[in-house]
Amino acid sequence: MKRLPPKRDLSIMTGVVVAAGLLIYGGYRYWALTLINQSLKTQTAGLEQSLSMTNHNLSLTQKEKSDLAEALVNEQNRNNLFEGQLRGISGVVGELSGTVGVLQKLHQTDPELLKKYSKVYFLSENYFPSQLASIDAQFLYQKDKPAQFHVSALPFLQRMMEAAKQDNITLQVVSAYRSFGTQAAVKSGYKVTYGAGTANQFSAEQGYSEHQLGTAVDFTTPEIKTILTGFEKTKAYKWLETNAYKFGLVLSYPSNNSYYQFEPWHWRFVGVALATDLHNNNKYLYDLSQREIDQYLVNIFD
Ligand SMILES: [Zn+2]
Repeated sequence: MKRLPPKRDLSIMTGVVVAAGLLIYGGYRYWALTLINQSLKTQTAGLEQSLSMTNHNLSLTQKEKSDLAEALVNEQNRNNLFEGQLRGISGVVGELSGTVGVLQKLHQTDPELLKKYSKVYFLSENYFPSQLASIDAQFLYQKDKPAQFHVSALPFLQRMMEAAKQDNITLQVVSAYRSFGTQAAVKSGYKVTYGAGTANQFSAEQGYSEHQLGTAVDFTTPEIKTILTGFEKTKAYKWLETNAYKFGLVLSYPSNNSYYQFEPWHWRFVGVALATDLHNNNKYLYDLSQREIDQYLVNIFD
């Protein structure tokens, strides 16, 4: 082995130490820089992440805003729709309650009041009007012989008789409500007086009579002495022909009708609407079909 001089050894040793120091320093710097870089990278990544998160949050907020706006519009639409539906429902409820009202009114209105009676369709012997009331004595032919009329139709009858009185026409009630039994007695009375054949033609068979309804009335007037016969020639009859419909009363059996003989004294309450339509069309109750007549039932007392 070749020995080197000591100075040179020292220099080499110093160089090695310096180099090692440099290497260590460099390593340290590198390590430190790497650490810083790492830290910066981490921070950047953190910032990026938080930025991205912030952006995300911002965009979420914006999205939420537009979502909210949309939701608001939807909600408003829904509310409008709901209100519309509510209105629709209340409309339907209104209509329904209206219909229920009409049905209730119809239910409470006796369908017999507008029935056409004939030898094939007649009232039961057990039929009684819902409620009767006494006709004011001033309108009676015989003041001591009370007469009753359907309670809801009575005001129309009495208003009509009052109106006739105002026109200097004297109308008097000979007969109004008659029960099945009374009708039978009237008929047998007629039979005794006129004989069975004439009586059947003259007075409706019991059960066929509109008098059992409480809404039919027979009038007389002092102009005639025979109570009923010749009534069609009186001023009172002419007045009824012109005015009775305004009070809901109509002539049931005009001349040449196919049901009974002409009964100019016999008038029936059918309600103002039906009476007016019959009057305007120059028709009589029995000319209409039952179906046509029934449409007027609900408003009979209006
Ligand atoms: Zn009669």
